[in-house]
Amino acid sequence: MTQEIRLRFAPSPTGYFHVGGARTALYNWLVCKRLGGTFILRIDDTDEQRNRSEWTRGIIDALSWLEIDFDEGPYFQSQHKDRYLEVANELYEKGLAYYCSCTREEIDERARLRGGVPGYDGFCRHRGLASEAGYALRFMVPPGETLVNDVVRGAVAFDNSTIEDFILLKGNGTALYVLANFVDDVDLRISHVIRAEEHLPTTPKAVLLYEALKIQTPVFAHLPVLVNEKRVKLSKRRDRVAVEDFRDQGFLPEAMVNYLALLGWSPGDDLEFLDRQKMVELFDLSKVSKSPAFFDVVKMKHFNKHYIAAMDSDEFIKRCLPFLERNSWWQGSELQQASFRTIAPYVKERVALLTEVVEMVDFLFLDPSQLDVERYTLSDADVDMLLKFLSKVESIENFTRDTLEESFRSLGEEIGVALRKLQAPIRLSLTGRKIGPPLFVAMEVLGKERSLERIRDAIATRH
Ligand code: GLU
Repeated sequence: MTQEIRLRFAPSPTGYFHVGGARTALYNWLVCKRLGGTFILRIDDTDEQRNRSEWTRGIIDALSWLEIDFDEGPYFQSQHKDRYLEVANELYEKGLAYYCSCTREEIDERARLRGGVPGYDGFCRHRGLASEAGYALRFMVPPGETLVNDVVRGAVAFDNSTIEDFILLKGNGTALYVLANFVDDVDLRISHVIRAEEHLPTTPKAVLLYEALKIQTPVFAHLPVLVNEKRVKLSKRRDRVAVEDFRDQGFLPEAMVNYLALLGWSPGDDLEFLDRQKMVELFDLSKVSKSPAFFDVVKMKHFNKHYIAAMDSDEFIKRCLPFLERNSWWQGSELQQASFRTIAPYVKERVALLTEVVEMVDFLFLDPSQLDVERYTLSDADVDMLLKFLSKVESIENFTRDTLEESFRSLGEEIGVALRKLQAPIRLSLTGRKIGPPLFVAMEVLGKERSLERIRDAIATRH
């Protein structure tokens, strides 16, 4: 019988959805698509103190935003507690696990007296204790060696004498993570476990459970850690890592997915920009690197800029709307939409984030009094140029980008001022900003009346 291909992404909902989690989800998804398997979402919500349902919602929303769609689930570990007890009991009945009455203090005290490494010494292994409130259930680690075959790291052998008889059920009867994960992976018939490197140390324990119950182990792959610019593991507290924040900042999901795919994997041939289909076609788990991957927001922004520029105008406009709608000046009237539509293709080529769009176009929708005061710091020479420009364009009937540019160029020649220098005070007067969309397009969209009024206003109110 050929083995089914079933992969799962199993986040713990204990905080904002982290880019590392998104990368793990994506790699699982890519392998799944490549092998034609089933992708499952499982919410590992066994830690009742730290789980919150809004984090679960956040994970599901972020996955859907990234278009990492799952075929089954979400399943919740909190609903499988009976199964964990059942399997724990099976292990006990088969003599593969035993009850232990030792308290933490007793364990530590014995370790101290032994003068050896801290940890459990197997004290209750042969005491034959029956289940009782407060007793933990421990797995009886057999002698020998446990082999973890990891696609990324190769085969790693663990000497079983270094693995203590680990806890399956706590004294209060709740299952520990290693048991819960094992049971769910078995029940969900998971063929590949692809997850963060931090889970590598518990993998031999999982393998011991598979072997004890004579179940075939899944393929394991532990993904390299993500580090910041100081080569320190990304942390929720120190670094910007929440997928939600990147979404709110105006990253595009396709740019993020493309960038995340390259954190630990490279398609070769210097290929960087890959669409989904190409990624599925080329992704190869065995080529994933074990070295830490630098999560570089600047680089991700570069990807975003590329994707924004490549997008067609209508799509760009659609994606900008939620960002415009965050501002009180945006009512979405016909006129506003038409103005935005005209300027959008120029803005598209100039922004790296969708939030930057707002600063590029707000001048069209704000009252002149709301424009940045910076525009009033005009020098005498600036004022002089503005007056000359005004007298040139006042007579233009057909106020278009072309006629404006023509007047502007001839003025430049007449007064012998570089065009760039000439542009700055005009832009400042019109938009209150130093950078923005092409000036004459901006003027055309503002219209003659508003443009001239703003220039006059800037001259009159400068200080
Ligand atoms: N729930 C674990 C986490 O969020 C993942 C466990 C696994 O994939 O096996 O880190």
